[in-house]
Amino acid sequence: IVSRYREMTPKSEALFAQAKAIFPSGVTHDGRHLDPYGIYVDRAEGAYKWDVDGNKYIDFFGGHGALLLGHNHPVVMEAVGPALAKGTHFGANHALEVQWAQAVQALVPTAERVRFTSSGTEATLMGLRLARSYTGRHKLVRFKTHFHGWHDHMTGGYANHFDGTSPVGVLDGISDAVVLVAPNDRDGVREALKGGDIAAVILEPTGSSTGMVPTAPGFLEFLREETEKHGTVLIFDEVVTGFRVAPGGAQAHYGIKPDLTSLAKILAGGLPGGAIVGRKDLFDALDYAATAVSGKEKIQHPGTYNANPVSAAAGIAALDHIRTSDACAVANAMGDLVRDKINQVFVEEGVNWACYGTFSSFHTFLNPKGRKIDPLAFDALAIDYEELKGKPKGLSHRIRVAMLVNGVDLNGWPGGNISCMHTAADMEATAEAYR
Ligand code: PMP
Repeated sequence: IVSRYREMTPKSEALFAQAKAIFPSGVTHDGRHLDPYGIYVDRAEGAYKWDVDGNKYIDFFGGHGALLLGHNHPVVMEAVGPALAKGTHFGANHALEVQWAQAVQALVPTAERVRFTSSGTEATLMGLRLARSYTGRHKLVRFKTHFHGWHDHMTGGYANHFDGTSPVGVLDGISDAVVLVAPNDRDGVREALKGGDIAAVILEPTGSSTGMVPTAPGFLEFLREETEKHGTVLIFDEVVTGFRVAPGGAQAHYGIKPDLTSLAKILAGGLPGGAIVGRKDLFDALDYAATAVSGKEKIQHPGTYNANPVSAAAGIAALDHIRTSDACAVANAMGDLVRDKINQVFVEEGVNWACYGTFSSFHTFLNPKGRKIDPLAFDALAIDYEELKGKPKGLSHRIRVAMLVNGVDLNGWPGGNISCMHTAADMEATAEAYR
């Protein structure tokens, strides 16, 4: 398979040879690292992308989740062109930022206040600061395997730091302020909250990496009740689920109101952008007038690209389209379809894996412990998060290379993000590529 891959991607291999001499691992994002090398993409349209050698792929990277509407959706492109022509950066307030925030509020009613950032990482960082300022407490509760970006408080507990130790390069002391709890562990949450010193609880509402370890039914309601009881701020990290699982995100789907929500990806229609949104009183810490009255120190928040006008134009167009179309429902239906079809292939081929997930994402459970499973009746809630840690990385790379040879670009789960542009025929082709 690797030799076929090399034969069909000589230009990508040549570019990677140059990149290796410049970038660590030859890549600009850990998730784009692939053994022996990843494809170099030349252009993209709808659900597809083409590499520099002219090969076409069904794209499941989906801009790391940003492209619910697929590549170059006409409503986004029509908004971006005129915005670009007016200027890429004003270093000033502009009408589009107001309209963008109103488009967010139209979908996410808990967004009483909005502060734009440049990325999801910055959104969760600001969420934590707002929670600390509001509560006067320092500690954060997070869940093992959940991902919230790469700033210091969010890195331990992901990948190989389930024991709560600080990853290399992160101050040891940070881990003292982060309480790591296993996914869905109610006792762990109760134990952490009972001391009354937790500023915030943060989670991905559908579970780690968009449901790789799913959130158990009732757990979000439990968190809402417990955090309220202890005066702790509840942060939903909806960087992926926002505007995806439903137009109003996971909070709308489940009918639960977090105090703060981090947003990015789909928010900016495929361009860079993020936001922290939520309850008005929590945002007083960023407000000159409110802090003058309260005497509290104001949280500083600069950021050169905050509310960039071109991102704002793309974001308004994408959010308006999501509000007025069935884009989320179409992508969700394609998710059901592709999971089903891939599992049928696993059954027919006698493969002891399962394809699972919720909404418009899918994951391949590679069953590192080789337990007997029925792919068509796979219970993702029974996955032990420790089991995923044993996921054989070499195997997932081999699957991804094999899928590229068969015309499908999976992300590293391995699995993918689905857009409203994917069709039933794409799902059929993806299942056949698995076969
Ligand atoms: N939170 C979640 C749930 C994410 O999936 C990501 C990015 N994959 C982030 C935060 C960080 O966002 P960004 O890459 O824009 O910094």
